[in-house]
Amino acid sequence: MPKIISADTPDLEFRTRPVKGVSLFVSEDAITSMTDHAERGYLENKEVMGLLIGYVMKDGEGTYAKATDTATSGLDADEASVRFKKEDIEDLFASIDRCEGNAVVGWYHSHLGIGCYLSDTDIKTHVGIFGDEIGFAVVIDPSVSTLAVFSCGSTGPQKAPMIILT
Ligand SMILES: [Zn+2]
Repeated sequence: MPKIISADTPDLEFRTRPVKGVSLFVSEDAITSMTDHAERGYLENKEVMGLLIGYVMKDGEGTYAKATDTATSGLDADEASVRFKKEDIEDLFASIDRCEGNAVVGWYHSHLGIGCYLSDTDIKTHVGIFGDEIGFAVVIDPSVSTLAVFSCGSTGPQKAPMIILT
């Protein structure tokens, strides 16, 4: 999987976040799109994944992200694993281009009946996409309709507070 974020981050827009102490704000549409995707995969007994697209901004507290949209493409998936199909990578980039936003701010995938956490493979995927840049991992378990958000710094995955923007 190629690294999607370019190394030269543009100057971030300075705008005070809507709620202090929260570093991820997600639109209701993006939440619906992720949970619907996970639900469709669940009916086929498959994990799903995609990217969260939006904006990275900064304020006095540091950097934070607003996710406005989701992007995905063909997947190689079964009940316990999922990855973007290598041959569909152009579709993934086209899907990103259709989104509102100028940055990949996170990724999502589903777990079928095993709860929401980041496995060692998930952590590797996360670091592969984001490296040291700001990025969030959303894990959805459609079997029990739960969703959790993680950030993944040098100390390992940590649950991250998220607020849904309506
Ligand atoms: Zn996982």
